[in-house]
Amino acid sequence: MNLLQVRKMMLFTAEQMVASEPTLTALDQVVGDGDHGIGMKRGFSAINQLLQDEQFQPNDIGDLFKQIGTKLMTSMGGASGAIFGTLFRAGSKSLSGVTDFNSPVLAKWLNEGWQAVYQRGNAKPGDKTMVDALAAAATTANQLTTLPLADALPKIADSAMQGAEKTKQMIAVFGRAKNLGDRTIGHMDPGAVSMAYILKYMNEYLQ
Ligand code: ADP
Ligand code: MG
Ligand code: MG
Repeated sequence: MNLLQVRKMMLFTAEQMVASEPTLTALDQVVGDGDHGIGMKRGFSAINQLLQDEQFQPNDIGDLFKQIGTKLMTSMGGASGAIFGTLFRAGSKSLSGVTDFNSPVLAKWLNEGWQAVYQRGNAKPGDKTMVDALAAAATTANQLTTLPLADALPKIADSAMQGAEKTKQMIAVFGRAKNLGDRTIGHMDPGAVSMAYILKYMNEYLQ
């Protein structure tokens, strides 16, 4: 996938994330403070605008993802503005100069993004956060680097969704959800669903 195709994929993803606002809001109303959908909508609307702006001409995929991360950080607020901003910004650091988006590049982004998100927020797999979807995706991506992107991405997106599903059984230890303790059992973490959706929509564009 070349830079223009990746840009179009991220524009499609941003549109779908904006459209997912009601679902994400409903999830955060159960285990959080109800603002996750609005925050993601604000962030991805800003990305939408950025990617439609012809003045915006990123040099490479690293630059594209870095600017996407910056938009999320500056427009969203909340825990997830910093967390998803970090995923795109830090995860893009080693993608400078990269113009072909393939399975190894995707694996690199997810793994370096995961590491940076951990450094920023300390959440480990099992803590009922977006890390549960991200870690599952990164781990699967590492096993599929020899596959063409169109064969690897559906499996990676499925793993992320399974990671999000697993948060149902977990007790939250971060953010507002932690105050609810075991009342969060039975409900998916909204950030984990957002993470799974991002990969799901990237895949939908690709197929
Ligand atoms: P806030 O919690 O500030 O209202 P949001 O509702 O937008 O922010 O986002 C909540 C989501 O952020 C959670 O569902 C969780 O997935 C993610 N999150 C919160 N804290 C952390 C953390 N320390 N590490 C990773 N993800 C986190
Ligand atoms: Mg919230
Ligand atoms: Mg909040």
